[in-house]
Amino acid sequence: MATTGLSDRRIYNPRGCEVNAVLHCNLRCRSCSHLSPIMPPWFADPERVFHDLSRMARCYHCEFVKILGGEPLLHSQLTEIIHAIRESSIAQRVVLCTNGSLLHSAKDEVWSMVDEIEISVYPSNVIPNDRLEDFRRRARDHNTNLSVRLSPVFRESYSELGTEDGNLIDRIFHTCQIAHVWRCHTVHEGYFYRCPQSYFIHRLRHAKPEDSGDGLEIRDDDFADDLRRHIDSAMGPAACRWCLGSVGRRFAHEQVPRRQWAELAKEPTEALLDRRLLTELEGDINEESHGKVRLEDGPIPDAWTKS
Ligand code: SF4
Ligand code: SF4
Repeated sequence: MATTGLSDRRIYNPRGCEVNAVLHCNLRCRSCSHLSPIMPPWFADPERVFHDLSRMARCYHCEFVKILGGEPLLHSQLTEIIHAIRESSIAQRVVLCTNGSLLHSAKDEVWSMVDEIEISVYPSNVIPNDRLEDFRRRARDHNTNLSVRLSPVFRESYSELGTEDGNLIDRIFHTCQIAHVWRCHTVHEGYFYRCPQSYFIHRLRHAKPEDSGDGLEIRDDDFADDLRRHIDSAMGPAACRWCLGSVGRRFAHEQVPRRQWAELAKEPTEALLDRRLLTELEGDINEESHGKVRLEDGPIPDAWTKS
């Protein structure tokens, strides 16, 4: 793998760009925002990851790359993917996001190659505290940060029926923390997306997300101006029509059978919306909305381990 030349006009994202190692997951969280419970098995090609990110790096730099999925530890070549991200020089840091259920079998190399491992703990998939202590020990041994987030609640993320109300689509886009606060850009198979949903929603609804117009093709030339226009566009991605952004109704996290997953999303956007939060975020887009709790040190609380 060769590194590429750099442009002086690079766009800087102070947050992270996402790379999906896989699309599928071993869990079945209701309303998973990456739609992973109903995604087909798919594995990223490390060479392709390097090719895309190194071309992006000519005109774009981000604080960190997040490796997600689905569950990224399902990929047997995860170390090659981490290596590809590092070699591309697109980011200062590499963060691996996992549900933790397969982390005990991750190779030492995975622990030492990333800067941080972020575990999301759900009530239906609680990590035993002795295993969590083992993860903390491995993190110390490999000089890797470990962050643990308890996620007791989710928000509706996807409406199979969507909405025809252009004003509502606009409001959902303009209050979307994913796009405007957390700036979760996504690079996937030769295209750059402003948010992961603008890839995943089209992946579910069409065979080719790249035909939707929501992705910008990653080119060999310096395409910084096109990229800036794409990121700053006042018009949301077409996927916003089926997406709840940050303002889906809140519910207690649960896993559901895969065949039931899409059935539960067969409601119009209007029925899945938290209207009060929509209004609040119109007042201040930085309002807390996700309900995750960071676990600093110590064990996972008893109430979780007994649920
Ligand atoms: S753990 Fe749950 S939320 Fe995370 S990718 Fe898997 S199904 Fe989605
Ligand atoms: S599709 Fe629209 S509402 Fe959904 S995450 Fe992307 S920008 Fe936000």
